[in-house]
Amino acid sequence: MKIKVNKHFEDIKETYLFSEIAKRVKAYQEENPDKKIIRMGIGDVTLPLPEAVVKAIKDAASEMGVKETFRGYPPEYGYDFLKEAIAEHYKEIGVDVPAASVYVSDGAKSDLGNIVDILGDNEIIIPDPVYPVYVDSNLMSGHKITLIEGNIDNGFLPLPEQIDHAVEGAVIYLCSPNNPTGAVYSYEGLKAWVDYALKTGSMIIYDSAYEAFVEEEVPHTIYEIEGAGECAIEICSFSKFAGFTGVRCGWTVIPEGLEAEEVRISKLWSRRQATKFNGVSYPVQRAAQKALSPEGKAACRANIAYYKKNASLLAVLLKSKDIKFTGGVNSPYIWLQCPKGMSSWEFFDFLLKEAQIVGTPGEGFGKSGEGFFRLTAFGTYEATKEACERLDKLL
Ligand SMILES: *Cc1c(COP(=O)(O)O)cnc(C)c1O
Repeated sequence: MKIKVNKHFEDIKETYLFSEIAKRVKAYQEENPDKKIIRMGIGDVTLPLPEAVVKAIKDAASEMGVKETFRGYPPEYGYDFLKEAIAEHYKEIGVDVPAASVYVSDGAKSDLGNIVDILGDNEIIIPDPVYPVYVDSNLMSGHKITLIEGNIDNGFLPLPEQIDHAVEGAVIYLCSPNNPTGAVYSYEGLKAWVDYALKTGSMIIYDSAYEAFVEEEVPHTIYEIEGAGECAIEICSFSKFAGFTGVRCGWTVIPEGLEAEEVRISKLWSRRQATKFNGVSYPVQRAAQKALSPEGKAACRANIAYYKKNASLLAVLLKSKDIKFTGGVNSPYIWLQCPKGMSSWEFFDFLLKEAQIVGTPGEGFGKSGEGFFRLTAFGTYEATKEACERLDKLL
């Protein structure tokens, strides 16, 4: 053919991470068929949907099968009943997010990737290590990316003071509680970013996918920070909160006040969504509404408590070994420094061979992840406990 393709795709690093993990695990298992491998690299929820949520899907599906209650295309930005439930959720956290600023979608990843559509060629600022979508979606559009280093000294919570050049009108991605590091910005840390964005005319894209894991006195949403309503978009998801990774529902908040080049950002996003997206299915939106109801929230919180108990088992073990880590609270992730100066992949092989535990090499999440390792709390309690016993003997 003689068409042109988007050459920027060549700038994206091949994601060999999970295929390489699978390859090494398979080879090990074939050589050692009698060894029981514990998988602690899972970045997906494992507990089933709460019963009330399942019932909401079934009831809504039944409505769709009856002439009087059948519904066709949903509204592009979500049904009012769900947007209002999300606004109510913010009210419970203590912030005012009007239902009209909420845009329902099929998940946070879509919105994080699609938001690039409505923005011009700005400098992009992203902490490293990081959830790869922010970097890759901007590379696809040929944008210039500034990575700021997370490390032991800053607790994997980079701050604007680390940026070594003058910035004007940048787009800043933040994720807190963070994937992969489990680190969470304090009120002060997040305020430093909001102040910086306001000072430099920048916009923050805040990924709060793990908001529901927050248990300490740290921000649930960026809108708890004064001034965020003038510089921040927030993208959230039902995936980790309600186990919706296979159901698909999320949302984006765009405050009405956000404006650049005399255009409202919300107007661009609503135009983008209305053009390229036809909304989330009715049964899924009813399920999401149910997850936000008192009954649904209680069930979702019980599942999150289960994962967090696993996380705390791991945290207690690592503390007893004097191994440095972030996460383990407010997060399903534990991000640890590989012992004895091992590289991420050396530690991966060491854990697999000596303890039959599979985790994720930190290097796969960016340059600053080298020498670190991610363990997740999404396994069963029994497996996590056994992993801790094995780690106790090994480390
Ligand atoms: C899991 C996750 C999401 C959620 O994505 P969905 O598309 O809603 O499933 C978003 N951001 C981060 C950092 C995640 O880990």
